[in-house]
Amino acid sequence: MNSAESAALGLVCREHGWTAAPDGESADLVLLNTCSVRATAEQRVFGRLALYASLKKKRRAPERPLTLVVAGCIAQRLGDRLKEKIPAVDYVMGTAARSVFPLILQAAEQGIPPAEAVRGGLPGMEETPVFSFSSAHLEEGPDGQSPFRSFVPIMHGCDNFCSYCIVPYVRGREVSRAPAAIMEELRLLAGRGVREITLLGQNVNTYRWEGPVPGRDDAGVLDFPGLLELIAGELAHSPIRWVRFLSANPKDFSPAAIRIMAENPLFCRHLHLCVQHGSNQVLAAMNRRYTREQYLALVRDIRSALPGITLSTDILVGFPGETEKDLDLTLELMEEVKFLYAYMYHYNPREGTAAYNLPGRISEGVKRARLSRVIALQKRHTGELLKNRIGSRETVLIEGISRKNADELITRTERDEMAVVPGKASLTGSFAALTLSGLRGNTFRAKEISLL
Ligand code: SF4
Repeated sequence: MNSAESAALGLVCREHGWTAAPDGESADLVLLNTCSVRATAEQRVFGRLALYASLKKKRRAPERPLTLVVAGCIAQRLGDRLKEKIPAVDYVMGTAARSVFPLILQAAEQGIPPAEAVRGGLPGMEETPVFSFSSAHLEEGPDGQSPFRSFVPIMHGCDNFCSYCIVPYVRGREVSRAPAAIMEELRLLAGRGVREITLLGQNVNTYRWEGPVPGRDDAGVLDFPGLLELIAGELAHSPIRWVRFLSANPKDFSPAAIRIMAENPLFCRHLHLCVQHGSNQVLAAMNRRYTREQYLALVRDIRSALPGITLSTDILVGFPGETEKDLDLTLELMEEVKFLYAYMYHYNPREGTAAYNLPGRISEGVKRARLSRVIALQKRHTGELLKNRIGSRETVLIEGISRKNADELITRTERDEMAVVPGKASLTGSFAALTLSGLRGNTFRAKEISLL
């Protein structure tokens, strides 16, 4: 989500005639789009801010001041306290306040001091911000080239309040984007040669739009399966041939969404379906609002409608009150599902969340030991699943040159598996067919590709 929003802010800069500086030292304006989902992400931001604060101090030419802007979730969480903490920060732009960014650019262009601009020197700066979606989120390389894939936000915010999570407090309640605006962005991306999109939201399955829907005479309610159908219609003859979405909350994944995915090859055969834990006791304490039995039933439904689909997940161990038995239940669930990969963490208390005050905190040593058991099992599953795929013929999207070998291309299957194959950089962004002939670590190798 932050990548998409950073791309949108980058577009605003370009629309106002700004260009990317090679580094912070030569920049006229530095914008840090921050994440506060984990405490470590916040610490990194404060490290960067200290660096830019010292750059600002050292800048000799007063006619070229450095404007320092902090955007995103930390800005939302701390507000003006951030400026008190680091006075070098000129503007704090919360998640709902991105609409003031053009005014910040204008103030910097006209040399209006930030304090004056904030006091109302620029009309609109002081208005209470209301969240609105940006119209475009396509990242652009320094050479001005469009990439071959893009994020497309369809929702913002979250109503779920999982007890460990800060997101609902910093991004606010769920808002769904107008389908007409989504379709417009899809047409723009298709025109720029994009081949793959990822629909984004904290919980895409609860997308709900009430109002005018493109292609329908009557205004009505559009839910997530309805949106997928609309997108499938829009992209029927488009260069965009792959659609993914993130994040899918198991408690809201409907049979209708599974059916529409199964009916349309546009939707990639991979799902990131966060489980977080395998014990009902822990899932309830996390306020996830599904049980392991419901999760496993959903996996069975998905697999029977979409044979061959791969699943990935998030797993959070060491939650307050977690027992060894709870951990065993998580390992058993992993054995049953066999995820292709997982993002695995141990719990760290996050101030401001409901779980912060829960009793039964687990010691660091135990958390680490439990996490390593989860990681070891996942490593085994990933290895086994990949090994079984050797020999299979696949369609891939070529993502660019491999970092390890300039003569090799890095490609991705629709099931989210990586494969390298000899080839030239000019093929980046093309669809191709290859045979998975071997493995190096978790990356497949192939001998040759045929462009599709
Ligand atoms: S669904 Fe839960 S974990 Fe995901 S953003 Fe919302 S509150 Fe956080």
